[in-house]
This record gives sequence, structure tokens and C-alpha cells, in this order.
Amino acid sequence: MDIPRIFNITESAHHIHNPFTPEKLATLGAALRLEPGDRVLDLASGSGEMLCTWARDYGITGTGVDMSQLYTGQARLRAEELGVADQVTFIHGDAAGYVSEEKVSVAACVGATWIGGGVAGTIQLLAQSLRPGGMILIGEPYWRQLPPTEEVARACLANSISDFLLLPELLASFIHLGCDVVEMVLADQDSWDRYEAAKWLTMRRWLEANPADELAKDVRARLTAEPARYAKYTREYLGWGVFALMKR
Ligand code: SAH
Repeated sequence: MDIPRIFNITESAHHIHNPFTPEKLATLGAALRLEPGDRVLDLASGSGEMLCTWARDYGITGTGVDMSQLYTGQARLRAEELGVADQVTFIHGDAAGYVSEEKVSVAACVGATWIGGGVAGTIQLLAQSLRPGGMILIGEPYWRQLPPTEEVARACLANSISDFLLLPELLASFIHLGCDVVEMVLADQDSWDRYEAAKWLTMRRWLEANPADELAKDVRARLTAEPARYAKYTREYLGWGVFALMKR
């Protein structure tokens, strides 16, 4: 079981697989007013940066579940590196349908709401692991400005304009789903650059090391096309944020 290999190549050097910087991740942790001993569940935990740094900085304990074997291994190494291996556990597996045995204070899915079939389904899934009064975290894209055409939406790597909402609409949709929005931290264009531009050097180095790989042509085409595509489309049209929700 694993994710498509191309992601394991282009994001192999990322600690955060989202348009967030370490500073924004720390801002989010502080904003949530975490207490030592709070339990956090992170579905699609990637390389574990959120759980590991929050364990170090705020004394939380946590469990992460992710389908990428590479990222899960990196998360375990990161926990050792930060001295929090006794506070966090990383499980390699499918997070779809994952419900924790012990209820948690914070249940998160940051940048992978497809695991619950969309935002609504993911909120429902996370709610099953949550203690009363706990917080749900959803990381999700939104349109900074509406793409003028479906073609522009596809150039942002969306399937269609209807994939995402404008920020006020996204916030209103959480209210319609029976949640209060109690905090949010948003990406900005600089933090998007950290996510997207970091892939370019990783791809370049990977190409130099793996010229005969079956994916070399694909990676070469991406490295050539991505900077201009990203600057023209994703960077201008797509926003991203993490939203903290509490059931009403
Ligand atoms: N939350 C992490 C990772 C976000 S990227 C971070 O912010 O860094 C999306 C993640 O979803 C990747 O790590 C990918 O491996 C994982 N993923 C995709 N489908 C999954 C599934 N069905 N179950 C668990 N993880 C999944």
C-alpha cells in the first residue's frame, strides 16, 4: 500500500507537505492553546512535522496515520531527532475510516480531505475520535480569486471550479455543517513558494541521480513546466488554510 511514486519523489525532502512554513505550523499550535498531555490524532500525517513539533513545543501526545511508507518512515526519524519518540506514534496505513480507540482533544486532517470523501465526510470521520468539547482541524484549499474559466481551474490542478469555494463560502460551509469556526491560520504566497518551489530543487537533484528511471521523462517535463505554471495559476488563484472547528 502506498501513494503514487511521483509524490514520494517530488516531496521527498519536504518536512511539511502543504503550503505552510514551520512558523505557520507553530502559530497554529499556539493558536489552539494546546495543553501538555492533550491527545492529537492526525489523519494523513505525512512526514509527521505537526505532531513532532507540537509534542516538543506543547507537550502533546499523538498518533499519525499515513499511506506513504516513505513519509511514515521520515516521521518516525523526525520524532527521534526531536526527542519525542515516546510521545508520538506513526502508523503506515489507510486513514479512510480510521477511528482512534482513545478519544482525542484534537482530530486533524490537514490537506487530505479526500480520505473522507470531502470536507463534510472528513469532519464526520474525525468527530468519531473526538472527546466532547474537542477540536477538529481541517486543512483545505480555497479560491483566492475565482478562476475565470474551467481551463484556468484545471491549470491550478483542480478538476473544476466547483472543487473549491471562496474563503467566506468555505467558512460558511463549516457553519452549515454544524460547526463553529474557532480559529484559522492561512497560507500566503510566500508559504506556497516554500511548498511548490522546494519541489523544483528536489526534482533537479533526483534527475541527476536517476537519469534512467522510468519516471525521469515525467519529472523532467514537470521541472521544465512547473515554475511558470505555478506562478501564473496556483500562486495567484489558490489559497489554503487550516481551520479549527468545534461542534455546536
Ligand atoms: N498532513 C501532512 C501531509 C499532507 S499531504 C502535512 O501537512 O505535511 C497529503 C498526505 O496524504 C500525504 O502524506 C499522503 O501520503 C497522504 N495520503 C493520501 N491518501 C491517504 C490515505 N488514504 N490514507 C492515509 N494517508 C493518505
